Amino acid sequence: MYKSLRWAAICCLFSIVVFSCKQEESEAPQAQEISQAVLDKIEALGFSTEDVILYNNTLIIEKDIHISLTDLDKMNPGNLVPNVEHYSTDNLVTGTPRVISVYVNMPQRYVDATDIAIARYNAESLTITFQRVSSSSGADMTIRASPWWYRFFGILGSAGFPTASGNPHNEILMTRAYYDNVSNINGIATTIAHEMGHCIGFRHTDYMDRSYSCGGSTDNEGDGGVGANYIPGTPTGPSANSWMLACGSPEGDRPFTSSDQTALGVLY
Ligand SMILES: [Zn+2]
Repeated sequence: MYKSLRWAAICCLFSIVVFSCKQEESEAPQAQEISQAVLDKIEALGFSTEDVILYNNTLIIEKDIHISLTDLDKMNPGNLVPNVEHYSTDNLVTGTPRVISVYVNMPQRYVDATDIAIARYNAESLTITFQRVSSSSGADMTIRASPWWYRFFGILGSAGFPTASGNPHNEILMTRAYYDNVSNINGIATTIAHEMGHCIGFRHTDYMDRSYSCGGSTDNEGDGGVGANYIPGTPTGPSANSWMLACGSPEGDRPFTSSDQTALGVLY
């Protein structure tokens, strides 16, 4: 009796676990409706209003920029020069020279990929450098697995922008469903370097027309955008292979191009 009850309990527990996993796996999440006021604000800040996702009160803009509704309200307009090149946010990391510590709470291949991404930044002699740390306590930035619903929306990874007080965004989320099995670890390193770029204030290189890297119809933001600051010295034409293009593939390796290096050097 005891045994069978115990087995019944175990089976019950097991079926609950299986059931809840299955529910997560098979049911596509329903994105929340986005109000026109929020879309207007997104447009006013110079972000693309296409493919904006709202789920769990978290906005995912341009496929990987993670902004809470509260933070969106706090973002301020800047000056717009409409070009298809390198852009930064108004908020940058301050207090330079500065070492940004990065903790990776993911399997080894993500640790290895982070080391590659960090080496790419640190080779540029910037006023910020990155250092991987083995403890989350006091880390400026943590890299961890994204929530299960990211893969349903095709989100490879996400990050946010620096805080108004000049700290880097503190979290990068990586979607393991897309990266656990990639054969080229530089593809993971490229995404991590891209998300680190957002964390220190880089916007998408092709934010004025994401069709450049994402395909599909032309997504011209016109002159509605503000809060996007052109980085002087970078070319004004579209930049092939920039690490900050909006779209890429999990396997694709995009180390810094020469104009990427210029943009990094101007900001830091
Ligand atoms: Zn991005």
